[in-house]
Amino acid sequence: MENKSTERVHCLIIGSGPAGYSAAIYTARANLKPLLYQGIQPGGQLTITTEVENYPGYPNGVQGPEMMVDFEKQAARMGAEIRYGIATKVDFSKRPFKVWIDDEKLIEADSVIIATGATAKWLGLPSEEKLNGYGVSACAVCDGFFFRGKEVAIVGAGDTAAEEALYLSKLCMNVHMLIRRDQMRASQIMQQRIREASNIKIYWNTEVEEIIGDNKVHGVRIKNTKDGKTETIPISGFFVAIGHEPNSGIFKEWLTMDETGYIKTVPGTSKTNIEGVFAAGDVQDKIYRQAVTAAGSGCMAALDAERWLSLQEKVPASAEQQIDLAVIK
Ligand code: NDP
Repeated sequence: MENKSTERVHCLIIGSGPAGYSAAIYTARANLKPLLYQGIQPGGQLTITTEVENYPGYPNGVQGPEMMVDFEKQAARMGAEIRYGIATKVDFSKRPFKVWIDDEKLIEADSVIIATGATAKWLGLPSEEKLNGYGVSACAVCDGFFFRGKEVAIVGAGDTAAEEALYLSKLCMNVHMLIRRDQMRASQIMQQRIREASNIKIYWNTEVEEIIGDNKVHGVRIKNTKDGKTETIPISGFFVAIGHEPNSGIFKEWLTMDETGYIKTVPGTSKTNIEGVFAAGDVQDKIYRQAVTAAGSGCMAALDAERWLSLQEKVPASAEQQIDLAVIK
């Protein structure tokens, strides 16, 4: 298996969202001849959004899937090799690093840029899936603008939900915040801000039964789990903010992560705890999670990889050399 299906590359990029493609554009222009594997969802999370209005350079906005086709074309035009395939296993114990694609093909890489993103968690209701992109969203900063002056609901009670509810409260008429327990998980300061916002109404002990609408959202049916009563709130937008899962499972054995699986990087860089392995985009960022910040961090990873590779040519490092974990927050 390792013979004819083994390939050696200078720079392997895993993932095809804004971080992966930006890394591909920069590494290709630096003549690193990057190979990029697109992963499970070519184009990443933006392929499941509708209009993107906050990415600089698109004065009239752009459809998320269309933007990712542009990213891909630009990376290909610069010379990146882009392939469909999923990284299923890695071995970062020594260089060249080993990455298996679809459990069979082996790529040996001098440097690896991980840009596998994160996946928003969903409630799992059929109506949520049906109306995704038609009033149902997992990103208030991306889609809140479309509901200016309207009624919206948001489900979740962590810092993300609190932050997004506050963001929506500045745009929308009222924000109905649906919380499954009788308390919030968000930090105290965020909870206080929520309480102080005059147009955020909290529904405690509340479960979402159904999002109502055919081609767009008209309402949400909720149930109070204490008294069993149901009610329907008329809304135009429904936001899900119940957390994200970084797509970092296959790297767990090798890379330092926080307790929720986000890859830790040396602050201000894309360096992980293993020299030559870099991380960019949402897989290492639970705070900003924007296309433009992901693209920026993809650029950082490319520059870090380029500098690191050129240093290796001058000063070959030992394969086991590790970055001091103490500098990683
Ligand atoms: P969290 O995991 O912290 O919170 C998820 C929330 O969603 C919880 O309130 C949880 O409820 C609720 N939830 C989960 N599943 C369901 C469900 N099926 N139905 C209804 N509610 C559900 O995720 P966040 O994205 O909010 O935050 C992730 C991490 O990022 C946290 O550590 C957070 O502090 C951090 N963060 C920091 C920010 C900042 O510093 N500015 C901004 C955003 C995030 P329950 O409480 O009942 O489990």
